[in-house]
Amino acid sequence: MDTSALITDLIAALGDGSVVTNVEDLEPHLREERGLFVGTSPALTKPRTTQDISEIVKICAAHNVAVVVHGGQTGLVGGGIPDDAVLIDMSRLNKIIEVDPVNLTMTVETGTILADVQAAADEAGAYFPLSLAAEGSCQIGGNLSTNAGGVHVVRYGNARQLVMGLEVVLADGRIWNGLRALRKDNTGYELKELFLGSEGTLGIITKAVLRLYPKLQQKAVAFVGCASFDQALQLLHTAQKRAGDVLMACEAMNKLSVELACKHMEGVTTPLENQHNCYVLLEFGSANTDADLNTVMESTLSDAFENKIIEDAVIAQSETQARAIWNVRESIPPAQKREGGSIKHDVSVPVSKTPEMIAKATELVEVLLPGVRVVAFGHLGDGNIHFNLTQPQDADKQEFLRHWHSTNEKIHDLIETMGGSFSAEHGIGQLKTGEMARLKSDVELDLMRTIKSALDPQNRLNPGKVLPPKN
Ligand SMILES: Cc1cc2nc3c(=O)[nH]c(=O)nc-3n(C[C@H](O)[C@H](O)[C@H](O)COP(=O)(O)OP(=O)(O)OC[C@H]3O[C@@H](n4cnc5c(N)ncnc54)[C@H](O)[C@@H]3O)c2cc1C
Repeated sequence: MDTSALITDLIAALGDGSVVTNVEDLEPHLREERGLFVGTSPALTKPRTTQDISEIVKICAAHNVAVVVHGGQTGLVGGGIPDDAVLIDMSRLNKIIEVDPVNLTMTVETGTILADVQAAADEAGAYFPLSLAAEGSCQIGGNLSTNAGGVHVVRYGNARQLVMGLEVVLADGRIWNGLRALRKDNTGYELKELFLGSEGTLGIITKAVLRLYPKLQQKAVAFVGCASFDQALQLLHTAQKRAGDVLMACEAMNKLSVELACKHMEGVTTPLENQHNCYVLLEFGSANTDADLNTVMESTLSDAFENKIIEDAVIAQSETQARAIWNVRESIPPAQKREGGSIKHDVSVPVSKTPEMIAKATELVEVLLPGVRVVAFGHLGDGNIHFNLTQPQDADKQEFLRHWHSTNEKIHDLIETMGGSFSAEHGIGQLKTGEMARLKSDVELDLMRTIKSALDPQNRLNPGKVLPPKN
């Protein structure tokens, strides 16, 4: 690669202030929060428009250099780590282009921070339901490229379900304008689905038409104690039957995960008097001003109580109490970090099999890693559990972490036998390409490679991510 000629061309196209080459400014773009991967790059570009991105892609193609897109860099699987590729920082493409409160759509540039998308919807009297702990720093483009989930999937689906149209820069620099705000369009193949969840390997998403919902007028949040995940699942089923489509979130947490949140995170306590083997956070929401959600929550919980499904429950009486309950759930990942080394699995199974999966996985790891402490929590309503393992008390952290890979394989094999997924959220990046090779069928990998080579024949878009190398 002739780096200086490449940089000269990039500066000529974008201007001096839009191409970063000095080591200190590049450095934060070469690693992720967890420090699992470190990359290299000749330059970070800061485009302002879709046209700029098209130019960058064409220049890089002419110099035979790959490109990697950076959103908010909150990804956890090494998806944005470059290997001598030019970086494209999306943060200047952050305009809310249009909100249509009647069509219930919003058109945005994809460098917009997720929390800003939510706020713009709210200001327009509507609601954008995608919500995750990184929402203050992740970008909507990163959410769409990783098909992010979050806490409201049980009602509104993943990021994929919240998109009506896209604009995408292709590997040859052409711009595909698929920015349609249509609820009905049966004109050929559904191209946008290819780019959603493709982690920047098939195209660069520059604009999106997002699906909005009527603004919520009421919410009810409860924190519930149960004897087991089996009972937590029965509570979910009770809520589905009694509350129907007002159910917005159903998060489950095992005893240890809540204990760690209360132990390590300042101000975090559970609102329940006694301890329970399993906890559930239920959230109901409605855009209907006449609905009385606290009554719906009360009747759901008393039904569950009478049927001996739950042991205790508290319904939040104010926004502050509701926030405090959510805080217990959101404090688990940082609290687990403070307890020592952890081996993580982000897996899903059909919702009805979730307790069975947790029981079987627990049995397995207790044999593999005696003394290990299971921290299982997550989106019960989606069958997606963060099945995380905290090191045994007093164990050596590095020695424990040496078992990461082999433990992942065993758990993923179990998940496979249950018809599940070894990556329910966060994507594949480079962390899980080995598992793609091991667990995806030849036919599925072949189909994916056919799509990749049709859209990016020179392998210039985020190479080395998602697809494993061919043997
Ligand atoms: C505290 C915390 C909580 C999280 N919770 C969740 C959760 O509940 N659910 C969940 O799914 N994830 C979660 N994540 C993971 C992460 O936040 C999401 O994957 C998020 O969607 C990534 O957005 P980002 O803008 O940070 O993307 P980045 O990290 O910048 O990029 C992620 C990938 O997308 C590509 N990309 C980014 N923008 C574009 C674009 N415009 N066009 C093409 N490719 C692009 C990148 O090249 C990279 O491969 C969490 C992460 C953290 C740190």
